[in-house]
Amino acid sequence: MKCPHCGGRNSRVIDTREAGDGIRRRRECKDCNQRFTTYERVALFSPMVVKRDGRREPFDRDKLMRGIQKACAKRPIAIEDIERLVSQVEHRVHSLGKAEVDSRVVGDMVMEGLRELDDVAYILFASVYIPLADLESMRQEVDRLMERR
Ligand SMILES: [Zn+2]
Repeated sequence: MKCPHCGGRNSRVIDTREAGDGIRRRRECKDCNQRFTTYERVALFSPMVVKRDGRREPFDRDKLMRGIQKACAKRPIAIEDIERLVSQVEHRVHSLGKAEVDSRVVGDMVMEGLRELDDVAYILFASVYIPLADLESMRQEVDRLMERR
């Protein structure tokens, strides 16, 4: 680990602690005695998402976040809940351990989570996400939700 101050290669760890999903280490350079911080994280294998038209794009946490935020825009849902859902989905997608994941699989994970959070956001997200052919099952889902009230 190179010292950011002098470029020296000798440092010692003076503190180690858990930081979110990683480990944070405080180090002290043996050459210049200055301190710096390093983070250690598990390298998550990020799969490609296969879209409905066959195009592939890397799994993008920010894009997922924007999509869910859009569906939740006018709903009384805390940003923390949305972030938790995004992290949950990201974690689940990564732990599939696959090189490619169907966008449908990702969407289903989001819908599952949204359904718990807010019925309307769930419907809004589904209406964008579900192909037209499946609108009949969508309608049944709406009926089911109405009955529950
Ligand atoms: Zn140094």
